[in-house]
Amino acid sequence: MSRSALVTGGNRGIGLAIARELSAGGDQVAVTYRSGEPPEGLLGVRCDITDSAQVDAAFKQVEEEQGPVEVLVANAGITKDKVLAMMSEEDFSSVLDTNLTGAFRVAKRAVRTMMRQRSGRIVLISSVVGLAGSGGQTNYAASKAGLVGFARSLARELGSRNVTVNVVAPGFISTDMTAVLPEERQADIKKNVPLGRFGAPEDVARAVRFLTGEGGAYITGAVIPVDGGLGMGH
Ligand code: NDP
Repeated sequence: MSRSALVTGGNRGIGLAIARELSAGGDQVAVTYRSGEPPEGLLGVRCDITDSAQVDAAFKQVEEEQGPVEVLVANAGITKDKVLAMMSEEDFSSVLDTNLTGAFRVAKRAVRTMMRQRSGRIVLISSVVGLAGSGGQTNYAASKAGLVGFARSLARELGSRNVTVNVVAPGFISTDMTAVLPEERQADIKKNVPLGRFGAPEDVARAVRFLTGEGGAYITGAVIPVDGGLGMGH
């Protein structure tokens, strides 16, 4: 089964691992990237997800080159960590604009064709932090918790069109995003992870492949943790 898939922020980190995993499963995979070069072997579409016009242009390019998007993975995200007392409104709104409104922009564009085709798979990448909270990350946690309500509402809207909408909530995964954490903090985190290690991007990618494949046919509105047990299923 070769479907047209699009992964936002698929040029590095978790997004790239998801893109490679879907590609290994036989899908035609496009990834968004903002600067530099797209990864080899995947269709790269330049796109900043905070800009609706760029999102629309990216979808048009994907439609032309590999057909309407049948599998959407909204993965692009940022952090701007600060305790609330020090957090500017811009720190808050830019994280919401990228992580939550960005997912809204790409999902809204994707469902246009998915509804017509009466089929589609959408996966939103949230975080364990969206469910458990995290000091210094009120902006990020709010954006990631918002994705859960968004996904569940959309799952209800689109169930009759055979479109599934699910959330994957990773714990701590070794990427550029977590590489900036001081070593002591990393050691502390590992102590609280029952599996005793950070995850690899591929750990998340395999869950996404499952949800978008046959195994996910009857799963919608779910939040799947991929966190080594950190959130104990929440
Ligand atoms: P990285 O920082 O390694 O990569 C982030 C990706 O998002 C990059 O491809 C980046 O593109 C893209 N991106 C950011 N802002 C935009 C934007 N405005 N428009 C388009 N693309 C954008 O992060 P990870 O791979 O670690 O994280 C991927 C997702 O997983 C994020 O949503 C993150 O919140 C989530 N997550 C990560 C965890 C972790 O431990 N690493 C844990 C839980 C969730 P560019 O290269 O152009 O900057």
